[in-house]
Amino acid sequence: MKKNVIIFNSIILIVLISLTITILSLYNLRTAGIKSAIHNAESISEVVKSGLTSHMINDNMNQVKTFMNSVADIKNIEKLWLVRSPLINEQFGNKNRNIARDNLDKQVLNTGKMAYEVDESITKTSVRVTIPYNAVADKGIDCLKCHVVKQGSTLGAVSLILDISVIKEIGIKSLYIISFLILITVIGFLLFSKKILTPYFSLYNNFRINMRDASKGNYKEIIPSSLISKEMRDITDDYNKLMVVFKETVEDIEKKLQGFVGHKVSNNKHNPLTESKDIITNLSDLYQFKKQVELDNTKEEIYARISQIFLNKFNIKKFSFIEIDSLNQKSQKVQEVGSSFHCNKIMEESPEECRAFRTKHDVVSIDFHNSCPYFENKEKSYYCINIDITKNLQLIINFVCDSNEELELLKDKIIFIKSYLAEAAPSLEVKLLMDALKDSAFRDGLTGLYNRKFFEENSKKLIPQVLREEINIGVLMLDMDHFKAVNDEYGHDIGDKVLKELSRILTDTVRESDVVIRYGGEEFVILLVGVKTEEDALAVANKIGKRVRENEIDVYAGNKLKKTVSLGLSMFPQDSTSFDSVVKNADIALYEAKNSGRDKVVRFTEEQVSSVDLF
Ligand code: GH3
Ligand code: MG
Ligand code: MG
Repeated sequence: MKKNVIIFNSIILIVLISLTITILSLYNLRTAGIKSAIHNAESISEVVKSGLTSHMINDNMNQVKTFMNSVADIKNIEKLWLVRSPLINEQFGNKNRNIARDNLDKQVLNTGKMAYEVDESITKTSVRVTIPYNAVADKGIDCLKCHVVKQGSTLGAVSLILDISVIKEIGIKSLYIISFLILITVIGFLLFSKKILTPYFSLYNNFRINMRDASKGNYKEIIPSSLISKEMRDITDDYNKLMVVFKETVEDIEKKLQGFVGHKVSNNKHNPLTESKDIITNLSDLYQFKKQVELDNTKEEIYARISQIFLNKFNIKKFSFIEIDSLNQKSQKVQEVGSSFHCNKIMEESPEECRAFRTKHDVVSIDFHNSCPYFENKEKSYYCINIDITKNLQLIINFVCDSNEELELLKDKIIFIKSYLAEAAPSLEVKLLMDALKDSAFRDGLTGLYNRKFFEENSKKLIPQVLREEINIGVLMLDMDHFKAVNDEYGHDIGDKVLKELSRILTDTVRESDVVIRYGGEEFVILLVGVKTEEDALAVANKIGKRVRENEIDVYAGNKLKKTVSLGLSMFPQDSTSFDSVVKNADIALYEAKNSGRDKVVRFTEEQVSSVDLF
């Protein structure tokens, strides 16, 4: 409420209270005036009664008029007259004497009870009273001695008009005095409010403004005015101390919290308290995320969880994750959301060309024109970040935006996104190391191919899928011809080299979806998954044979070595619905190839079984 409104309302209240008191006082004064007039009238009536009685007893009634005139001279009596009852007329005649002058007279003669009326005008107030004389018969006065009436009958009445205007005058005087007092009070109040209340109001206003600013994060002190009292100065000092402590504490909290999530304050006019609340909420979300990621089983689950955060928390709809293996110079797209992958084929062929990978800095399309030459969709904007997962593995996250405005919004979120990625990175590293560990148990150290352990543990998992999809697997069993001789002649190192060359030829010849396994020594199993016919499988086998045959291996001092291989082929499920039997059959066919001269491919037949059995 404003200061003027408070003062105005206070003055209205003072005036109203004063007026109420005045009206009540005037009413009481009037009531007291009327009561006193009636009391006077009763005294006068007693005097008149005594006078009349003694005039009657002394038979001196002719003096009554003089007596009445002398009584009527009493101050404030305006009129005084006697009224005779019809009972007296009946007894003494002379009907027209002292007859009732008005209704009040008649009423009192009828009822025998005193009655009065107040007559008020602007200038004058009078009370008209009629008091009855009722017949009594006691020791002092016995009316019944003269009057032939029943005891208690109304014999007559005395009527008076008393002027009580003096009371009104007192009331008007009081009104003047009270009005004057009200005026004095109001002036006094105004002076008081100016001197005493104004500093309070100004302090109150300062508190109000400062509190409003504080709720917006601007913690200011109050500068006290010079008119301030001691107690007001104390309150102001306490408030100021509180504000200083509050400001320092909140800013300190905010500063410390900012470090946790790399929180960036948007502008100078921020509210540290709400900023801190936001930071704590982000920290809590981040903590929850970290806990969840730690419980995830695989890196795929972690990637899916990060994707959910991007989609739901950061509202980013298009992004891909690309793993780059810096040791083997290989890249793999591990996640793509919203058909966002627009990287050139070079990403697959020479991943070291990826700018984010190479520079280890964020690559943003609007920072430099065409900053990454390998991003192919010129309509879109992009933001790529690089995260080190392990020493040899980096994760590139490529965000794609439809417009530069969207990219600007994304830029503001990057610092938070990186906080999430930083929390996920250690868990990802653990998962990758575990995968590598598992993988190494299934890999052959010399050639890098899957080993027999892998074949035995995983080959059967293929079977339900193969049967469901009604595809074939061509199983090739391969053995290098006279390999022992290589070792014997050139030593084991050259032997190893020959094996590595062979494994390279095998992986280069078959499709990506086929599986090459080093089954043992110089024996290999090749699973041609999804091969259409046995003719196709034979063609692949012959191609392998041809490439090995034609391949020249440097042995030493410019000497070249050429080797051959023998292969046995069996088809699943044509040859047997038992996968183990098919593998065994391929081995039988290989045996047949060796027996029949080597450097050839032999397709398994049932007859070979009996011939093997003969051995
Ligand atoms: P065949 O034509 O009948 O298959 O004759 P082969 O000499 O190839 O057959 P054999 O099974 O007698 O010899 C295989 C040799 O391969 C024996 C073993 O010393 C050698 N060998 C097995 N594993 C390795 C390896 O990892 N490195 C090298 N250098 N030699 C190996
Ligand atoms: Mg062998
Ligand atoms: Mg051999």
